[in-house]
Amino acid sequence: MNPQYVGRFAPSPTGPLHAGSLVAALASFLDARAYGGRWLVRIEDVDEARAVAGADRAILDLLGKLQMHWDGEVVWQSQRKALYQQAFDQLADSTYPCGCNRREIADSQLGLAPDGSAIYPGTCRYGLGPGKTARSLRVRVPDAPYDVIDFEDRMAGHVAQRLASESGDFVLKRADGFWAYQLAVVVDDALQGVTDVVRGADLIDSTPRQIFLQRLLGVPTPRYLHVPVVCNAEGEKLSKQTGAAAIEVRDDAGALAVLNETARLLRLPMEAQASLDAFWRAALPAWARLASVARADG
Ligand code: GLU
Repeated sequence: MNPQYVGRFAPSPTGPLHAGSLVAALASFLDARAYGGRWLVRIEDVDEARAVAGADRAILDLLGKLQMHWDGEVVWQSQRKALYQQAFDQLADSTYPCGCNRREIADSQLGLAPDGSAIYPGTCRYGLGPGKTARSLRVRVPDAPYDVIDFEDRMAGHVAQRLASESGDFVLKRADGFWAYQLAVVVDDALQGVTDVVRGADLIDSTPRQIFLQRLLGVPTPRYLHVPVVCNAEGEKLSKQTGAAAIEVRDDAGALAVLNETARLLRLPMEAQASLDAFWRAALPAWARLASVARADG
């Protein structure tokens, strides 16, 4: 086992996996295997309001049927709240309570961050306004020109974001009391020793915020690879909201069909295969070619 590589798949159990999430799963699994590293699975149920009972088990069961076997124990974010609190406490000097609601933030008309969230105008940065009570907790981002975060994505190349104008001070603890994804993902990637994040490009705009938090917390920044998002015939990102079908697998033939289709969506340079063994034998070198893996064990 290559001790220099720890990858992970981190599904949110908001429903069964669909083709889009499986593409991310397959890419991160193949990358970990191509590097001879470990591959962890983390259930991101930090947003307990959106978690669907039983979806976590269904996801793990499906990964098993597809022969995507993870290393070590699966962790659930809903059981790790004390760790998020500890990290938050470490950031005390950079955080502040915010009393603004969605409408007030939208009214400021700074527009939307690339991920669709409204950019926060900093209203409560220097104290809660009169008559306001704390709803969420935010982290202060640097003002321009010191707010640029950039990184080299292994697939997308150079990515840069101005946090002040493209995100604004962002939420670490939400008004409903749940820890925000951005904090939980950074804490978990660090505590689990993740060296390589391979996930869908829908999260690429979150990466600069995550790198910013890593620097504040003094933890290493992993390498990143964002795979292109899978779209439906209408050009919409496949997701539960756009009606992506749940993947169901009954037997090995079903598993093979799903894997061949996922490889096609991921644009792996390989033919459809006739058995699960043949699939995995072909997929590993195909991924190594697609992602320019320097040292493939396949
Ligand atoms: N839980 C996130 C999702 O399912 C993925 C988070 C990540 O890979 O960083 O979209």
